[in-house]
Amino acid sequence: MTSPHDDAVVLVTGGASGMGAATARHLSAHGARVVVVDLDARRAEDVARSLSGPALGIGADVSVPEDTERYLAAAVEEFGSLDRVFLNAGIGGATPLLEETVERFDAIVAVNLRGVFLGLRGSLRLMREQGKGGAIVVTTSTAALAGSELAAYSAAKHGAWALVRTAAIEGAPFGVRVNAIAPGSIDTPMMRALEGVLGGGEAAARALHATTPLGKAQDRYGTGEEVARLVGFLLGDDAGWITGVTVPVDGGVLTADPYHF
Ligand code: NAD
Repeated sequence: MTSPHDDAVVLVTGGASGMGAATARHLSAHGARVVVVDLDARRAEDVARSLSGPALGIGADVSVPEDTERYLAAAVEEFGSLDRVFLNAGIGGATPLLEETVERFDAIVAVNLRGVFLGLRGSLRLMREQGKGGAIVVTTSTAALAGSELAAYSAAKHGAWALVRTAAIEGAPFGVRVNAIAPGSIDTPMMRALEGVLGGGEAAARALHATTPLGKAQDRYGTGEEVARLVGFLLGDDAGWITGVTVPVDGGVLTADPYHF
């Protein structure tokens, strides 16, 4: 029996932690050869080593052009091709507009927007050259689709979503599909850091769960595995007619009005 990612070479940025690591594991379990890219080289290599199939771990900063060229070239050098890409690396930032600093704004935009620009441009150029199509998924956020009290983060994620739509149009002529996922409240180290901003502990977790219809009903966050299954679908051939969309994986937060009690 074949798996949806049999032999495909799939690169995951931010693959050393959270939903990136969960997706690397999911794709590997479904037959992919996985390239794990992360700022933290040691953890990227650890995740790669822990996977069930062929894998490579690379340390790189997605906001740096030379690093982007290097991680793409390393994937091709190791596995001979690059078929699917999950541009997922990101940093959080829970600061309202009125409190935001220029330095912090630039730092968040560098990773969450410039990093996506560099990853999309590099992947599309490579896939055009390879001439055999491909698929790309970008992690945005529910904050890419609505205003939020995360000013710089929300702006960068809105921008990333705009790039996905552009890339879907530019990629179509050479068979590359480009989509976004918009997670909300997924149980990862980034989410746990947000709990800290709200005072931490059970009370903060419960308050965050309660912002989401399914979270309130089940008293939990979404899981990395729930995100990974969506990414696996969008990167695979079963999603062959899907490009230029954002799929929320958010427990219903985007559909709820503020008065859902
Ligand atoms: P996480 O912190 O567990 O993982 C993020 C990973 O990205 C880390 O391993 C980190 O080292 C890496 N990274 C950060 N900056 C990098 C850089 N410059 N170059 C390369 N790697 C870098 O967080 P996560 O929750 O798994 O986040 C994954 C993505 O999901 C991010 O883009 C984040 O903005 C987005 N997101 C998360 C949530 C959530 O609820 N957790 C919600 C919406 C969107």
